[in-house]
Amino acid sequence: MSHIPTNVAPHVACSMFQSIKFDLIYYIPPMSYIAMARKWRPRSFDEMVGQEHIAQTLKNAINTGNIHHAFLFTGTRGVGKTTSARILAAMLNCESENKPCGECESCKAIAAGSSMDVSEFDAASNSGVDEMRELLEGTQYPPMSSKYKALIIDEVHALSSKAWSSMLKTLEEPPSYLIFILATTEVNKVPATILSRVLRFDFKRLSPMQISKRLAFICEQEGINAEQEALSIISEKADGSMRDSLTIFDEVFAYSGKTITAESVQNALGIPSNALYFELVQAFEAHDAKGSFAVLEKAMASGVEVQMFLDGFIRFLRNFLYAKVGLSAEQLEISQGSLDSLKALAPTFEQGDILRIAKIITELSLKCSAKYGLNPRLLAEAEFSKIAWLDRVANIKEALEKFQNAPVAPTAPQKEENQKKISTNSAASSSSSTSSTASASASATTTAAASVGAFQLAI
Ligand SMILES: [Zn+2]
Repeated sequence: MSHIPTNVAPHVACSMFQSIKFDLIYYIPPMSYIAMARKWRPRSFDEMVGQEHIAQTLKNAINTGNIHHAFLFTGTRGVGKTTSARILAAMLNCESENKPCGECESCKAIAAGSSMDVSEFDAASNSGVDEMRELLEGTQYPPMSSKYKALIIDEVHALSSKAWSSMLKTLEEPPSYLIFILATTEVNKVPATILSRVLRFDFKRLSPMQISKRLAFICEQEGINAEQEALSIISEKADGSMRDSLTIFDEVFAYSGKTITAESVQNALGIPSNALYFELVQAFEAHDAKGSFAVLEKAMASGVEVQMFLDGFIRFLRNFLYAKVGLSAEQLEISQGSLDSLKALAPTFEQGDILRIAKIITELSLKCSAKYGLNPRLLAEAEFSKIAWLDRVANIKEALEKFQNAPVAPTAPQKEENQKKISTNSAASSSSSTSSTASASASATTTAAASVGAFQLAI
């Protein structure tokens, strides 16, 4: 480090350091880097993703002047509850017709978190009655420069019972200028007395497609070149939370820089490569249990946990099944090349085969996550063996049709015997022929029963 000059800009020093440490593969963003979740926090309801039903209701309420004094925003983490509370507060106080304009003093102050008339209170770290009393004391005075005073209480479920009681009186008879906006991830912990006094809005989890569309928009604005499949992996990983997706995106961006590929996302997040799953399915198709163990070994050698490997495989099987069914690359949010590879994979596997494997792997994943005290790798290998030994699923309708249409022919020894009998005793021949027909029928029935058995085993 001693040979790095100290009189250079921090980001220059960073890049110099990067060039000296040859094994440092992470791209070091400029020092002024702002987290994507902060930078791309929506400033209006038009920018909000997936909560159109709430945005429309709140816009209508403000346009008609029919404004309730207390709102409760509930939903899982990272879906826009606090952001919506800020937008609502900005709309209530914005003087422009196009609310929130983002230009007026009120909008600017709320965006900067410096508005005297909009208070944010984190109930998770201030759950006591004293903090609540102090907060409510401040609401006795009218707003300084706005029409409304908005009180945003985040994680409101964390309040103590005494804090709830002290809030109840103000919530029942609030001053005309005061608006409560409560946000929670655990609405079941909010007392019924509070619930009956607030307008409740349930925020939805976002679909992977909604998240990846928003990420694609952000990439376009930021000049980042990202593969659709890469964004799809991030949005799957975010599990319905926009904020989580942007945090993951930050992590990937730090690793990949301005070109983000599916492979770089997998490397950055420690997600197993799709190539391993292709190999695994091929091993199953070839009844190669040993080959399937080798794939698991490779995954673990690259630092992937069994649980993560199985979860990724379930997602892979979903795409594999949908590709067989005929969904498009766009619907699956993968590249056309990946879709073609999936369609060409394991041609002897029918939809039933894939479903059966998915069922076994899902149960296996649950067993591994339940921590039975068993070695997850051993569990996985046992189930992989089972899958590798399985025959293909039979279609019972086709099997029965084959059975019904099959010509009934006597077996060779029976044929000889029949001919002997015909030559010696013509009267007995017809009886013998009937017997051989019955024997062949019994044989065919046994074959059909075996097919039925295999099918029942499959489902
Ligand atoms: Zn404004």
